[in-house]
Amino acid sequence: MKRILLLAGTSEARALAARLAIEPGCDAVASLAGRTSAPMALALPTRVGGFGGVAGLQLYLEEQRITHVIDATHPFAAQMSANAQAACAALGLPMIAYAREPWRRAPGDDWIEVADSAAAVHALGAAPRRVFLTIGRQGVADFRAAPQHDYLLRVIEPPEAKDLPPNCKVFSARGPFAREDEVALMREKGVEMVVSKNSGGALTYAKIEAARQLGLPVVMIEPPPRAGVTLAHDLDAVMALLAS
Ligand code: NAP
Repeated sequence: MKRILLLAGTSEARALAARLAIEPGCDAVASLAGRTSAPMALALPTRVGGFGGVAGLQLYLEEQRITHVIDATHPFAAQMSANAQAACAALGLPMIAYAREPWRRAPGDDWIEVADSAAAVHALGAAPRRVFLTIGRQGVADFRAAPQHDYLLRVIEPPEAKDLPPNCKVFSARGPFAREDEVALMREKGVEMVVSKNSGGALTYAKIEAARQLGLPVVMIEPPPRAGVTLAHDLDAVMALLAS
C-alpha cells in the first residue's frame, strides 16, 4: 500500500485527488495551505495549514508513514516545493512534482518576460497606464512602488488594504474565464497593459488570448526555476511514475 501526501492548491491537484481516491493500492491524504477561506473540496481526506518548514514537514511525513509525496502546488509556490524537496531528500522518499507546462509565446503575442513581480513593476514604465493585474494576491504589494498607474486587480480573495497600490479597483472572480468575456472586460475598463504570472494551463489562458486579440502588451512573470525534481506535466505521467 502506498501512503501518499498530495500537496494541493491547484485544479491539477484536484483532478489528481479524484484519481488517487479510486486508485487501488493507494492511501492518499491531501494538504492545503489554508489561504482560501472557501476552497473547493478535494476527493481525499484533507489536512489544512503549513507544516512548520522543512523540519515540521519531515516530522509529519514520518508520523503519517508517508511513502510518496506528490507536489501539485502552483508553479509559483516555490517555498512549499523547496521544503518538500528537502524533506523528501532527508528521508529518502520519492517525490513527484506535477506542474502544468508554462504558456509559450504565440504569433501576435506582445510579451515582456520578467523574473518576478518587482521586475514586472519596472516593466510597466514611468508613464501612467491602465493595468490589469492578474497575478493573485502575492506580489501585489510590490506595485505600490508604481502609484502612477490605475490598477484593476482580479483575485479570488482580496489582499489586505495595506498591500494595495493607491489607485486600485479590486474585484473577486475564480476561473475558468472565456476569451469573449476577457476581451469585453479589457475593452470596458480601457486596459492598456496586462500583468500575468506564466502559470500555464487552460483555466486562465483566455486573458492571454484576449490581450493578443486586442494588441495589448503582457508583462509575463516567469515561474521560478526547478532543479533536481522528477517532473510530470499530466495526470497519466504522474500515475505512471507512481507505479514505477
Ligand atoms: P509558498 O510560498 O510556496 O508556501 C509558503 C508556505 O505555505 C509553505 O512554506 C507552507 O508552510 C505553506 N504551504 C504552501 N502550500 C501548502 C500546502 N499545499 N499544504 C500545506 N502548507 C502549504 O506557497 P504560496 O505561493 O503561498 O501558495 C499557497 C498555496 O496556494 C499553495 O498550495 C499553492 O498551490 C496555492 N496557489 C498559489 C499560487 C501562487 O501564485 N503562488 C496561485 C494559486 C494557488 P510551512 O512552511 O509552515 O509548511
